[in-house]
Amino acid sequence: MPELPEVETVRRALAPVLVGRRISRAVARRPDLRFPLPDDFGQRLTGRLVVAVRRRAKFLLIELDDGTVLLSHLGMSGSYRIYRGAAPAPEKHEHIILCTDDGAEIRYNDPRRFGMMDLIDAGKLGDYPMLKNLGPEPLDDGFDAAVLSAALKNRQSPIKTALLDQSVVAGLGNIYVCEALFRAGISPKRKAASVAGARAARLVPAIRNVLREAIKAGGSSISDHRRPSGEPGYFQLSFAVYGRRGQPCPGCDCDPDRTGGIARITQAGRSTFYCSRTQR
Ligand SMILES: [Zn+2]
Repeated sequence: MPELPEVETVRRALAPVLVGRRISRAVARRPDLRFPLPDDFGQRLTGRLVVAVRRRAKFLLIELDDGTVLLSHLGMSGSYRIYRGAAPAPEKHEHIILCTDDGAEIRYNDPRRFGMMDLIDAGKLGDYPMLKNLGPEPLDDGFDAAVLSAALKNRQSPIKTALLDQSVVAGLGNIYVCEALFRAGISPKRKAASVAGARAARLVPAIRNVLREAIKAGGSSISDHRRPSGEPGYFQLSFAVYGRRGQPCPGCDCDPDRTGGIARITQAGRSTFYCSRTQR
């Protein structure tokens, strides 16, 4: 599943192709993705100038000159591909096609169709059901230890589960939560409300750095995710704990034959990888 760094990588690839360009043609090759597409989807996009391509959590927001925002979520398997010059015939799962006035063609491919697109009035973005309860952006300047500990205050759930709650911090997924908790030396089982003070001060940069490094790697956590340029967008960083059950912990250099190495537990139905010696 594309996580925040993958969506940001997609945003950075789409922005130079779209911003300042007019959409000369927009085609929906089927009436729906996860949800029905808006009526007149293609007509409403055709002729519009793209003003900006932004990201909120794992949503792409393509802002148009008439005050409409094209909202796009990649779901489980969505990806964009950019074609320049003669593009091949659309593949089966290339459901949405946007052409720009300078000859680029952007196709949205989504075999499993858990992705979505919608057209929203920019003034009503804050009321949009999937956006309105999102917490702070982890990479924004406003996200600091005070903001995080305020969001965690009174939460009895484990910190791992709390960080996956999109109202605490927006866009964090399972892999990056595991890695950030490892970097911060915080046990995933620790009560969320107890992550304040020095712990919150360690956790914020851990979250930001793991996301930044993943974005820098242009990375993806999933094998079937592709960058818009067409190359696979594999996450280039090696994970410290995620997917490494039974392997030595890079934090304490333990002997896995003696300690069991990295542990895997299940929290709220999701796998958690951690080291009980390094993370407290
Ligand atoms: Zn360890």
